[in-house]
Amino acid sequence: MSEAIVSALRKARRIVISTHTRPDGDAIGSQLALGNYLKRQGKEVMMLNQDPSPYNLEWMPGADHIELYDGSLRQVEFIAHADVAMILDTNVQERLGTVGKQMRDTTATKILVDHHTDAENWFDLTWKRESASSTAELLFELFEQWDLDVIDYDVAAPLYVAMMTDTGSFRFSNVTATLHRMVAELLDRGHIDTSVLHAEVYDKKSIEGIKLLSSVLSSIELHYDGRIGTVVVTRRMLSDSRASVEETDGFVNQVLSIEGVLVALIFTETERGTKISFRSKGENHVHKWAQSYGGGGHRNASGAFIVGTLDNAFRKAIASAPHFIDLPTLETSSELSDEDAAYLNSLMNSQNN
Ligand code: 5GP
Ligand code: MN
Repeated sequence: MSEAIVSALRKARRIVISTHTRPDGDAIGSQLALGNYLKRQGKEVMMLNQDPSPYNLEWMPGADHIELYDGSLRQVEFIAHADVAMILDTNVQERLGTVGKQMRDTTATKILVDHHTDAENWFDLTWKRESASSTAELLFELFEQWDLDVIDYDVAAPLYVAMMTDTGSFRFSNVTATLHRMVAELLDRGHIDTSVLHAEVYDKKSIEGIKLLSSVLSSIELHYDGRIGTVVVTRRMLSDSRASVEETDGFVNQVLSIEGVLVALIFTETERGTKISFRSKGENHVHKWAQSYGGGGHRNASGAFIVGTLDNAFRKAIASAPHFIDLPTLETSSELSDEDAAYLNSLMNSQNN
């Protein structure tokens, strides 16, 4: 399959690349690395997303060439007449946001490069593996197949950032010797100083963001005998701190770093509803839990959006935890409100049937 993908890319003249809404380091890093690589191969490239890149990734080479999708004739025409459409770091139309329909409807060869579970089936060619640490790792494999000599700083730096951000700086369980060998190639070919790139991405927090972290952490609660940890980000906390919601990225990992916590949840209140981020350790998989709310993701990192109040989303999620996570001791009913206890009961009953 990778030969077919490289062959389609070799032949293509016009290539459009898109990635998911609220893009992260793997999304933007992969998109830029591929875009810069293809430009070096003489291709006409358009990079098109629904949402802007996070502020700490704007320095990356080519970031100013990523266009926000506005449905203009120029963009719609480029997608419609592209030879190849690349979909990176998501495998569902909905997560492409406003660009999704055009990407799906184009007559271009649609190529998926992704490491999430449960892919949709509208792609012509796919390069996907759930066990891959990042979309960037999969892209590196395609570059290996094609020509590694094309990799310069403009390709290596975004690819490195993508791998770094999706692996918690190379510490998650999907980090392998093979990934480290890829990183070694990137450091050599891109003449990369890893400490500089790390600082570019992680040491740009604002004082407002750190104050927000302090109020978010003060909302910490442990449930089910310390196995599940939660924090909340209310709209009030956001407005009081004057930090942007982007700066909450990574907060949930603080909760997961508590000894004994198997799953950490962060609930973010928005105008339309509540975003839940799920993070977990080891075999405590959370993607099915996120899917139960219409979300999804990876086994140890998932997300979902619930229409409704923060309070409601919080109660629902906590009460349904035993449905998805093996919890040795259930939260005792004395710690639950009557409503929670009734909800939990109905869940446990439906599980038994
Ligand atoms: P985060 O919690 O950082 O927003 O997302 C963690 C992972 O969960 C992402 O890599 C993404 O795969 C997945 N994810 C987050 N939000 C959603 C969502 O609303 N729908 C789906 N399908 N996946 C999501
Ligand atoms: Mn990813």
